[in-house]
Amino acid sequence: MAIIPTYEIDLVKAKTSKINDVDFNNLTFGRVFTDHMFVCDFKDGEWQKPQIMPYQAMTIDPSARVFHYGQAVFEGMKAYKDEDGKVFLFRPDQNFERINKSSARMAIPEFPKDYFFKGLETLLKLDSEWIKPGVGNSLYLRPFVIATEPAISASPANEYRFMIICSPAKAYYNEPVRVLFAEKFSRSADGGVGFAKAAGNYGAQFYPTSLAQKKGFQQIIWTDASTHDYLEEAGTMNIFFRIGDKLITAPNNDRILDGVTRKSVIQLAEDLGIECEVRRVSVKEIKDAAKNGSLKEIFGAGTAAVISPVSAFEHAGDVFEIPEEENSYATLFKSTLLNIQHNLAEDKHDWRYEV
Ligand code: PMP
Repeated sequence: MAIIPTYEIDLVKAKTSKINDVDFNNLTFGRVFTDHMFVCDFKDGEWQKPQIMPYQAMTIDPSARVFHYGQAVFEGMKAYKDEDGKVFLFRPDQNFERINKSSARMAIPEFPKDYFFKGLETLLKLDSEWIKPGVGNSLYLRPFVIATEPAISASPANEYRFMIICSPAKAYYNEPVRVLFAEKFSRSADGGVGFAKAAGNYGAQFYPTSLAQKKGFQQIIWTDASTHDYLEEAGTMNIFFRIGDKLITAPNNDRILDGVTRKSVIQLAEDLGIECEVRRVSVKEIKDAAKNGSLKEIFGAGTAAVISPVSAFEHAGDVFEIPEEENSYATLFKSTLLNIQHNLAEDKHDWRYEV
């Protein structure tokens, strides 16, 4: 493939900024977008010259394969600003690698690393005002790829569009959540696409999650598809269990997304001298631990909410309330991660990436 120097991004700046219309103290996640977006098309066997342009609606042919076969993958990452106005990403190399793993599984061509980073950096510099300093504030970045070729034969497209859009965010899911352990529905299957951030993985969760919500549970903890005996991950978070002083989380496999927050929590646990077992966790083990009082915490880990504590779970009609833990690991990991992300703590693993 021809290497186009990445400084050659075609840039059309927005004439006016929308920023003054935005109430940054009152943001609903994912509703407001910054002034610019990054666009790069794949055709004739290669990625074309990248563009940055004003955020806008776009025209796509109704026969584009993404609408018919769901050939679409995405990423979720955040940019943070410290009190000196410096902007950081958190482990963006992980998101870059993961979007290409997701793409490979969906027969989408991989995106070049220099385009990805140059696109992110140029966009963040242009829309830097949209990143507010202060712990909990961030700019959520949504890179994604869709199959745009106008042709409805059921085969991989020859044309794609890679884009990055940006949305200012406050940390969300702050309230502890009540969860349901999946007994009937599955999120993903062996040999399937669960490890990929494929769009369809998310659409397929909406119906079972809406049923859970009708029963008073905000989220589902997915179990393995073949037995439903082992706990795997939540809808957009990996999951940790604390029994006594020990943490347990499921190992990655082809059904589970390899979360950046999860791997950071595992590393932080090691740094903090907290034992963390990466192994299969059965529903029975967690129910038994809840019954005998050794289950201290359950929490989710993911970019959007960072750490999200679970206050109760239901399985087979049994509801277990998890008493609030005074020395909570969820709180400890959340503040440790936020401090690293916002340049308020030492970054001994080089996770921050200055833009
Ligand atoms: N599992 C799923 C299914 C997800 O969508 C996400 C969010 N990307 C996660 C886990 C957490 O991953 P990360 O920490 O990289 O955001």
